[in-house]
Amino acid sequence: MGLKTIIGDTLVDIDLDATQKWYEKTLEWDCACADCRRFIEAAKGKKLPEYTLKVLQELDIPPEKATYVCLLDGKDLYEYCYRIVGKVIEKVSVDPVANCRCELEHPCPSFEFPTPYFDIVFYDEIFYRP
Ligand SMILES: [Zn+2]
Repeated sequence: MGLKTIIGDTLVDIDLDATQKWYEKTLEWDCACADCRRFIEAAKGKKLPEYTLKVLQELDIPPEKATYVCLLDGKDLYEYCYRIVGKVIEKVSVDPVANCRCELEHPCPSFEFPTPYFDIVFYDEIFYRP
C-alpha cells in the first residue's frame, strides 16, 4: 500500500497520498464546546505532546484536524483521534514514549472516508489554557 511504520504499539501500512488528500479538503474539528475549543487552540499552537506532534508531522496532518476529541475527566485528560487511510498489520513492542494506540474503528462520528482505514487514538493530559 505505502508507508510501513510503527505508531504507538502497532505496525501499520499507510496510504499517505490518500490520507493527505482527505485532510487537505477537511476542516478543523468543529465542535463548539469549550473543552474542544481549548483542545483546538492547543493543537494550533503546537502545544500537544511531542510524540503526537512527531506522528502528525510525519503524516503531514494538521493537529487541529482531529477526527474525534473528547475530554474524559472534566479536567485535562483528552482522548483524541486521527483517521488514516491504511491497514493495521500487527501489534509490536510498546514504544515507552508513545501515548497512543491504533484501532480499526474507534467510535468516531460517521463521515465519508476512503477504505480501508484505522484510527490513531491518543490519550493525553493537555494543560494549555488560552
Ligand atoms: Zn466538544
